[in-house]
Amino acid sequence: MYIMSISIVRADRKRSCYPVGRSRRVRKSALLRGVALQASAKMKSMRLCALLLSGCLAAACLAQTPPPATIRGTLLQRPGKPPAVETADHHIISLDGDEPTKGVLNDKRLAGFDLEAKGHFTASDQFLVDPIHTKAMFVHKDGHVKVITYWCDVCSIRTYTPGPCWCCQKETLLDLRDPDQDQ
Ligand SMILES: [Zn+2]
Repeated sequence: MYIMSISIVRADRKRSCYPVGRSRRVRKSALLRGVALQASAKMKSMRLCALLLSGCLAAACLAQTPPPATIRGTLLQRPGKPPAVETADHHIISLDGDEPTKGVLNDKRLAGFDLEAKGHFTASDQFLVDPIHTKAMFVHKDGHVKVITYWCDVCSIRTYTPGPCWCCQKETLLDLRDPDQDQ
């Protein structure tokens, strides 16, 4: 009787176990497939979002960065005002830039020079000169384009903004050079 009951229980278990296990397995794989589908749908939507976001960012960047421009005119240094150029058609455009660039634009030795600068307009009468390392400023002298450089004749050190030599502290000399000399 005891043995019989055990075998019945076993048989019962066997009978009940198999379908349960199978259905569980089936449910699991279906669940996994569902999860995978959900995940791929999520990935797709995320990819779409990323695409849209990068598109928006690119559009914002394009909208924020005005096109590169070149400006040319007589360098004006007026008391209490930022440096400016007066163009051939007598428009006065204020100039701005990084500190070394402003150093050049405020250099008294360059007042009245025919200056050319690369950069972009930030307003109709305001121009931001490109960073000093891009060598965005030139002067036109006697029909030639010249690069604005500064020279210490004691140390033979060249710099691109006025001020004392970083080595010997002697005031550097303005040295306008041919572009092909300044490679
Ligand atoms: Zn020096």
